[in-house]
Amino acid sequence: MTGIQAQKLRYIVNLTDPVFRGKYHGKKKHDDDFNLMLERARAAGVKGMIITGGSLGESRKALNLAKENNLYATIGCHPTRSSEFEKFQGGPEAYLKELDKLVASNLQGKGRVVAIGECGLDYDRTHFATPEVQKKHFRSQLYLAKKYHLPLFLHSRAAHSDFVSILNDEGFGVDGGKGNGAKGGVVHSFTGTSAEIVELTNMGFHVSVNGCSLKTADNLEASKAINLDFLMLETDAPWCSMTAAHASKAHLDTLPVSLKDLYFPPSVKPEKFAPGKLVKGRNEPCSVGGVAWVMHKLHPEATLEEVTEKSWKNTVEVFGLDELA
Ligand SMILES: [Zn+2]
Repeated sequence: MTGIQAQKLRYIVNLTDPVFRGKYHGKKKHDDDFNLMLERARAAGVKGMIITGGSLGESRKALNLAKENNLYATIGCHPTRSSEFEKFQGGPEAYLKELDKLVASNLQGKGRVVAIGECGLDYDRTHFATPEVQKKHFRSQLYLAKKYHLPLFLHSRAAHSDFVSILNDEGFGVDGGKGNGAKGGVVHSFTGTSAEIVELTNMGFHVSVNGCSLKTADNLEASKAINLDFLMLETDAPWCSMTAAHASKAHLDTLPVSLKDLYFPPSVKPEKFAPGKLVKGRNEPCSVGGVAWVMHKLHPEATLEEVTEKSWKNTVEVFGLDELA
């Protein structure tokens, strides 16, 4: 395909921190390349990034990082971390209160909070927190979204029916809860079925896809069911890389070289780290364009530019990033 101008394609992505400092499971493997990662992202058309908080401590770090780099942050507790509520000094109410205070004091300006989350349910990993614990603290965080009129950054794994019934119960069943003070939100890293997509978008929620969402033939089939008016694109870097073993590979193989150079620059193993090169196995924001390309191939009725512009617009609107618009 010809005529695609890379500079016309713009993206907003999410990001969690750990390995852009060269640290893997607490072990230093290479130099900090956070700034080089940002440069690569900018070159690939990434205009904004949302750093996702997965716990109280992580949310504080996400805010600091967002302030330093003029990015955005989310505040919340991931379902797999929700036992932190129980273990917290002063109990779950005190933990929620700390999250609440953090939101209240970061609503404005540079590095501000743009969503409550990650929160939700993850029944693939109940060894970190039981479904009962997860459900309790998913509910309690929904209160913050209504109180501060913020969208939700949602995580749902193998838990769709409980996930949806809690959202319905807490007043998020229609128009993303706008009648109850909320602002909808996005179910990120989506790996469910097409029927689930329809249910979520009918409730007014957006659906976000990354490499994990495009891994199997079933994933690809489901992703075709996403109405582009409800689509967001993400990387979830450093996680969810697209690999040669994934079903997405056949589509990625058709990515024009001019875009491939920007979205998938050459990579080396962490031990062979070289500044300016990607690190194998570590996903980066610059690769969001690969996700866009595969979504375009799954929705041939839309050009690549249409796919990226729709998901850009959806992201700006849901998270209120008006200054980027
Ligand atoms: Zn997640």
